[in-house]
Amino acid sequence: MSDPFHSFHLDNKVAIITGASSGIGAQTAKLFSSVGATVIAAARRLDRLEKLAEEVPNVIPIQCDVTSDEDCEKLVQSTIEQCNRVDILINNAGISDPIAALDEELSEFRRVIQIDLISCFYLSQLCARSMKEQQTGGAIVNVASVHGFVGSAPNNQPGYSAAKGGLVNLTRELALEWARYNIRVNAIAPGYVATELTDDMIAGESGRKWIERNTPMRRPGNVEELNGAMLLLSSDAGSYITGETIAVDGGWLAR
Ligand code: NAD
Repeated sequence: MSDPFHSFHLDNKVAIITGASSGIGAQTAKLFSSVGATVIAAARRLDRLEKLAEEVPNVIPIQCDVTSDEDCEKLVQSTIEQCNRVDILINNAGISDPIAALDEELSEFRRVIQIDLISCFYLSQLCARSMKEQQTGGAIVNVASVHGFVGSAPNNQPGYSAAKGGLVNLTRELALEWARYNIRVNAIAPGYVATELTDDMIAGESGRKWIERNTPMRRPGNVEELNGAMLLLSSDAGSYITGETIAVDGGWLAR
């Protein structure tokens, strides 16, 4: 039997990762680099990306605010200019809106939908056009959330839950439309994972206890625990998986 781990390698693959300046994005950049990919690390904080590129081989930083259509276009264009191709897109950049629905400004709700859903659509479309033209297929992984399946109250994140729910079904829609081009579209749905997004919650006793109480495994996850699902969906190991969302959530959605 040939090496079953061979299909998890990303040699000669070019991967764009948004929100790569911290948390899950930075971890995924390290992971992909370690299995042979060239990583286009995209985020707003260029200093952080440059530091990542100093520490991790084959990382190319590109400043990008995903709320700017022009930045998204430049990101994909300059990936093609520098690397001649794009094989993988990780739509990871995201924010939350921890506020009760009755109190939320409409502008804030719109901002969350723009970052967590609309920019994922636009970057997927831009990359899929290149992937189709390359005729080599590709893999898109959307970073959704358990709150794409269930509401977040009493944690309260109206825009976030709406956007992540939309992202889970957008994943199915794009998978169906692009299967014929061998462009696979999948998502992961993390539970509560320790990153800058959840720092305050996990640092505070009541937040941490709430996570522990509601997670069957009785603890938050850490970013390395997303490696397996991320690599499966991004590599040829997942070559027959499309339209799927894999929960990596310590059992949150099994309750
Ligand atoms: P994080 O705050 O460390 O990372 C989010 C990244 O997105 C940051 O690098 C941030 O700068 C970037 N970003 C935000 N707005 C941006 C914009 N306009 N343009 C470009 N980049 C932007 O948090 P994280 O937990 O690593 O979050 C990554 C993804 O994982 C998010 O989509 C988040 O919703 C999702 N997620 C996180 C958890 C968790 O518990 N940490 C759970 C479920 C889903």
